[in-house]
Amino acid sequence: MIASVSINSHRLLRRLRDIMGGADLSSQNKLDLIVKLIAADMSAEVCSVYLMRGGMFLELFASHGLNPHMVHRLRLDMGEGVVGDVAANSRPLVLSDAKSHPSFKLIPQADEEKLTSFMAVPLNRGGKVMGVLTLQTLKKRIFSNEEVEILQTIAMVLAEMIVAGELINQNEFHIVGGSDSHSLKLTGISLNPGLACGTAVLHHPHIIVKQIISEDTHAELTRFDQAVQSMQASIKALFSKSCLQNTQHREVLEAYEMFAHDRGWLTRIKRLIETGLTAEAAVQKVQRDLRIQLSHANNSLLRDRLWDFEDLANRLLHHLFGEKEETDRETHKHEEERIIVVARSLGPAELLEYERYGVCGLVLEEGLQTAHVSIVARALDIPVVSRISDVLSKIEPGETVLVDGDAGVAILRPDSRALMNFESKREYFSKRRFMAQKVRGQPAVTLDGIEIDLHLNAGLLIDLEHLKPTATKSVGLYRTEIPFMMHYEFPTLETQVKLYSELIQAAESRPIVFRTLDIGGDKILPYLRATEDENPVLGWRAIRIGLDRPMLLRQQLRALVQAASKKELHLMFPMVAEVEELLEAKHLLDLEVERARKHNKQALPSSFKVGVMVEIPSLVWSLSSILSHVDFVSLGSNDLSQFFFAADRTNPNLADRYDVLSPVFLDLLGHIAKTCEAAQKPLTLCGEMAAHPLEAMALLMSGYRSLSMAPSCIGNIKLMIRSLNLGSAIEYFQTIRKKTKKTLRQDLSNYAKDHGIIY
Ligand code: PEP
Ligand code: MG
Repeated sequence: MIASVSINSHRLLRRLRDIMGGADLSSQNKLDLIVKLIAADMSAEVCSVYLMRGGMFLELFASHGLNPHMVHRLRLDMGEGVVGDVAANSRPLVLSDAKSHPSFKLIPQADEEKLTSFMAVPLNRGGKVMGVLTLQTLKKRIFSNEEVEILQTIAMVLAEMIVAGELINQNEFHIVGGSDSHSLKLTGISLNPGLACGTAVLHHPHIIVKQIISEDTHAELTRFDQAVQSMQASIKALFSKSCLQNTQHREVLEAYEMFAHDRGWLTRIKRLIETGLTAEAAVQKVQRDLRIQLSHANNSLLRDRLWDFEDLANRLLHHLFGEKEETDRETHKHEEERIIVVARSLGPAELLEYERYGVCGLVLEEGLQTAHVSIVARALDIPVVSRISDVLSKIEPGETVLVDGDAGVAILRPDSRALMNFESKREYFSKRRFMAQKVRGQPAVTLDGIEIDLHLNAGLLIDLEHLKPTATKSVGLYRTEIPFMMHYEFPTLETQVKLYSELIQAAESRPIVFRTLDIGGDKILPYLRATEDENPVLGWRAIRIGLDRPMLLRQQLRALVQAASKKELHLMFPMVAEVEELLEAKHLLDLEVERARKHNKQALPSSFKVGVMVEIPSLVWSLSSILSHVDFVSLGSNDLSQFFFAADRTNPNLADRYDVLSPVFLDLLGHIAKTCEAAQKPLTLCGEMAAHPLEAMALLMSGYRSLSMAPSCIGNIKLMIRSLNLGSAIEYFQTIRKKTKKTLRQDLSNYAKDHGIIY
């Protein structure tokens, strides 16, 4: 016999409101009464509320009918059991026989054995699941649509109460179930290496604008002008106190200051004030419009810049209110503890503010290497992990967070084991750093006397300062798009000539391999209109843009030819997929050389060395034919592995899926090295692989003798090289390289350990 019941929903909601309003009841008491009331009115033996904790698991917060001992003890992962299923899918589930559902999981300690039917709805707010409200019955029952709707209405009311802190007071919400807190690993990408441990401070400056309509437009405009002036002055003061004084960092801060004076932005706000809004409402309206634009921009660089505007808008609001910002960081200013700032994203000025409150790490949802906040974090030596989705709902204020900027992970509520590992890793790294520093300027020679050529990857003038202290031979990869990304309009010929001349001068007599613009994909210049590619990484980018817009590439080549007067010019072309593309690019270079010969006052470069980047698999198959057209080859392992495995290199979900140390990828690299050697064409590997000691060791074993990497990695790579007997290592490698397995990482790391190789 299947039961069904009818419910007086108005009465139920009225009673619910009475309980909520009960001033002398604790929040737990209210919740206990609510589940009891729902169970009685909806004729169910069990009614329970599970709330999301730490954004990742559901905790039983109250139940009428389940074993009371399990309240605050029973925890389910997202997707675990039918309750977890409701949360994971964020939709109601109605089951006349719960046990037949594939996700069903019996929790015997909860006294669930005899229960049959099940109905649950998610507690949603702002599109996020905050918990689950469930009903269970002993007898088999078919819940009606009307009952589902009633439960959903109750869930809506509960969710509002939770958010408002009325039902569960916020402190209680954080500490309930405290002692055996679950440690949680959040995987993202590294924006800056290093290790940090601290207390989470959530950065979401919510500023409530109460008055929307102004009473006196003229007075509002005056108030606005005054606030803008005081904001500009305070930014100036903040930056002048900052320790960031080198060229690149000043550029970042100046760009931010430029935004603070941006006429377009300020005029947009003024127009709205003129239509009758208060200054605050107008600032917030423009901020919201920008945010909408931001969420639709699939161009990360543009998004990075829009975050600067977010930062500014919040700052301006505080100046309008004429009060100091009340954020979590204020509560930390007297405390000794170090803080980890958790944010969707931060502006560079906000990070500098947090610096005063002892920020030691950042965990972000948005942001790439090019974001201003990343550049400032690198300057301040603050580890940053980014691209953790929905981060603000996963971490709660006051929780302990470990930031592992090397691995690109944040560990939440670390247990004692995680803390111990962290401490030993920190100790190990500081020793390592000391050792690496010591060998930084030493020759890169293996124990058996084989010299390895090390070069630097650079993108800014300042990077070249590392050439001498690292005793590196050249700039193996100069990414010309980086200075372009720092500008707000296309650099003129003069600007480019000046920049390249300064670089050549700074390198003294060492060569610089200039890679022509590698824009497109993720590296879009805000001032260059790009096509709306469905698949930007596989789209109109790098050399493809250069060949389709030859004047753009020719202007860059013109600047390089001019800047390298009387010097050897090393040039290479990125993302070449077929020989013809290289030939076309070389033809443009010829045209520019011819032009310079005719028109330039200064002499031509003394010679030209033209190279190609091997980073698209199709080129590996035309390697022999392309080699006759180039003087050297540079292997971009970042893109080559991305296209080889068809795995987006910026997607954290794929970060551990494929390994560059897989026998197949190493085989491909070995083939490239052999082909270049046979053709006597110098080959350098300039992707991330060269920067990690174990990977670099595998490269040496595969025939590579020239590696280019970021300046900070040179010391570690030298430690590995100087502790390696390459002859014996190659012999060992021959025995494992054809293994059919996912990766050789473990074999290589065992070998390194057994042979005292520092990696
Ligand atoms: C590469 O792809 O390995 C490379 C060095 O180029 P980039 O990382 O700039 O794409
Ligand atoms: Mg590349």
